[in-house]
Amino acid sequence: MNVYDSQRIANILQNMGHIPTSNINDADLVIFNTCHIREKAAEKLFSDLGRINLIKEERKEQGKETIIGVVGCVVQAEDQQIAKRAPYVNFATGPLTYYRIPEILQKIANQKDMCIIDTEFTAESKFDHLPQNHSEGGCSYLAIQEGCNNFCTYCIVPYTRGVETSRPVEDVIKEAKQLVATGTLEINLLGQNVNSYHGEDANGKERNLAYLLRRLAEIDGLERLRYTTSYPADVNDDLIACHRDLKKLMPYLHLPLQSGSDKILKAMNRRHTSGQYLEIIDKLRHANPDLGFSSDFIVGFPGETDEDFQATMDMVDKVGYIQAFSFKYSRRAGTPAAVYPNQVPEKIKSERLIALQDKLFALQLNFNKGCIGKTMPVLFESKGKKKGQLFGRTPYMQNLHAEISEQYLNKIVSVKVTDANTNSLSGEVI
Ligand code: SAH
Ligand code: SF4
Repeated sequence: MNVYDSQRIANILQNMGHIPTSNINDADLVIFNTCHIREKAAEKLFSDLGRINLIKEERKEQGKETIIGVVGCVVQAEDQQIAKRAPYVNFATGPLTYYRIPEILQKIANQKDMCIIDTEFTAESKFDHLPQNHSEGGCSYLAIQEGCNNFCTYCIVPYTRGVETSRPVEDVIKEAKQLVATGTLEINLLGQNVNSYHGEDANGKERNLAYLLRRLAEIDGLERLRYTTSYPADVNDDLIACHRDLKKLMPYLHLPLQSGSDKILKAMNRRHTSGQYLEIIDKLRHANPDLGFSSDFIVGFPGETDEDFQATMDMVDKVGYIQAFSFKYSRRAGTPAAVYPNQVPEKIKSERLIALQDKLFALQLNFNKGCIGKTMPVLFESKGKKKGQLFGRTPYMQNLHAEISEQYLNKIVSVKVTDANTNSLSGEVI
């Protein structure tokens, strides 16, 4: 979501006549887009700000001004901290109000030393104020839903991104068409809770994600569709049917389980049990036997015993994920779980994370090795690390490198997989 927001901020700035630079010392304006999901992500901001302030000071000696802005969830949660710990920041605005950046920059131009902090949970939709989006390559993100009403007890998102809102159907279709017209072949629909999408259509009727996917699949020139992140309890039969019917919908689904223990899922306030999760996976596999799954896991949630952790390990075996993200539980001030009495010691969290990741990586490697010899359509989206190489993604979201001419950048090409490791595949073009 932050990648998408950053691109929209770049759209705003380009509209104002700014141009990007790859040399930070040349930048008259630096904006950090921030994440507050775990402590580590939030702390990174303050070290980066300290580093950029040194550059600001150096530039000042050369008579150049540098405006520093902070955007995103850290602002929403820690606005006073930013003002206190980094008083040289010129403005800070939350993830819902960054459309006001032109206004803010105007104010700063008029009154140089002011610091503007904007954390309003505005009822207005930022999407109504953003300039047209355009493609930056073959793959694009498109935010269709924002915020969350689930209030999982560990999670800061409902407090930083606000209540759940969905963009109207026609707005999404319009943005998708703009992206396709400017070169996008693949769209990844985004939302904190993307499958609880309930946007209005042109007649004011509420529509679900399945409806939106079917409408998007009709767009000529759009070859691939994905959506992320889904909440298991909100996977309905309509959506499952899309995985059976829509060829453009890629055979990879990120469906976070978090924990395999029903006791922990309940303490997390998740609206699903491990059994219900398995039923959903079964139905999805029935709709499309080719589907690969990924998940998010949290280890060391307060009260997690060895048995609870083992239940998570067992679920990993039962589902057979082809990829997954796993994290140590991080206490987020203001969330219920942060003050639960039975916090798990750091050492145990680390041991569990290592054990879980060993298992997940082994499964991932196994899946990747099983692809050797197969031919897959790969969308090449950027230059590879080595000269003469391009980097792309398979339908299953695997990273793939191939030696191939640059003319295939942002194109879908048939590639035979020749080698595989945990994180990526190598292939040759057919
Ligand atoms: N809405 C999605 C997840 C969005 S947050 C869902 O419900 O599945 C992305 C991931 O960050 C979560 O799936 C969770 O695994 C992780 N996460 C969120 N809060 C966390 C915390 N306090 N500590 C560790 N991981 C956390
Ligand atoms: Fe956070 Fe996802 Fe739970 Fe919402 S559903 S509170 S975003 S983990």
